[in-house]
Amino acid sequence: MSTDAAEPTVLDRYECQTCGYIYEPLKGDDRRQIPEATPFEAVPADWRCPVCGAAKARFSNIGEVGSPSGFKENLGYGFGVNTLTPGQKNILIFGALALGFLFFISLYGLQ
Ligand SMILES: [Zn+2]
Repeated sequence: MSTDAAEPTVLDRYECQTCGYIYEPLKGDDRRQIPEATPFEAVPADWRCPVCGAAKARFSNIGEVGSPSGFKENLGYGFGVNTLTPGQKNILIFGALALGFLFFISLYGLQ
């Protein structure tokens, strides 16, 4: 995965507590001339829910896009081991064992 650089800033979504409308910062609100990629914080204070007309204060943060899965956050963790095939993992494990063995032997060699 190499989406990190190209991705826009992660923006939190806000849900209308009155009707359930979700403000998507990446989409904005074209009915109210809110351009794409506008954070909810940057939306004018007099902006209202386009569905039910609730005030901006009626919205609550429901987290960033795609956050329920936590999938994006997990990628790249574990030193990339999760992206290795089982065969590559075996090479890694046996390589580490061999290195440890060589280190062990070299300690003996010094004595
Ligand atoms: Zn609403």
